[in-house]
Amino acid sequence: MIYILIFFVAHWYLSLFSQTFFLHRYAAHKMFTMTPFWERFWYLFLYITQGSSYLLPRGYAVMHRMHHAYSDTEKDPHSPHFFKEVFTMMMETKRIYYGIISGEFKAEEKFYKNYPVWDKLDKFGDSWFSRIGFGVLYTLFYIYFVPAGGWYWLLYLLLPIHYLMGPVHGAIVNWSGHKYGYRNWDEDDHSRNSLFWDFLMMGELFQNNHHHYGARPNFANKWWEFDPTYPIIRALDAIGIIKINLSSAKY
Ligand SMILES: [Zn+2]
Ligand SMILES: [Zn+2]
Repeated sequence: MIYILIFFVAHWYLSLFSQTFFLHRYAAHKMFTMTPFWERFWYLFLYITQGSSYLLPRGYAVMHRMHHAYSDTEKDPHSPHFFKEVFTMMMETKRIYYGIISGEFKAEEKFYKNYPVWDKLDKFGDSWFSRIGFGVLYTLFYIYFVPAGGWYWLLYLLLPIHYLMGPVHGAIVNWSGHKYGYRNWDEDDHSRNSLFWDFLMMGELFQNNHHHYGARPNFANKWWEFDPTYPIIRALDAIGIIKINLSSAKY
């Protein structure tokens, strides 16, 4: 039982860290730089931690720059203000994401090209072999560690979250971050900050702050706000694994 909870929490936060640190703040915004060695290291880390729901940096970065450019307009890939519920919004997000990967959005690709590329890993990570393989591993872990009898079988209900970890995080951030919470800045969109201390989504729920300062690695703007990913970024910068981009970041 305890192993299941540890596995769930670890998968949640490691996959989320890869998304906010590598896909969002690095691939889509270049808030910091790193050597080719560390770029490969974090790319591989992204693949392992996202597993069955691996997101290709190219698809994520271009789609995310579309989100900033067209925030809460009809061209936004995932504005909650154009959909009745979250599932339809995420299906549309998926359609645009795969459209970018298959080359359907050439105009948008020109508009943002500064993402890391590792073709072989992307091809493998996006294959059914890899996606289903990870799904099988998660399932086997549950079969081995879920205790028999009682209510324990209910733990199996957590498995679909493992299979779809990336899209589950995306759904929470895209829906809540442009719908619920407070605003520090009067942006032209509906972006909001959903939590003061965003321990749930590691800073991703500071959408209003982030839309205001798009290149700033600290998503918390007020002294009483806290973005848990930022101290990790500072630590990685201090030990030389990454270099915070001072020219674009006012922190
Ligand atoms: Zn962003
Ligand atoms: Zn946003």
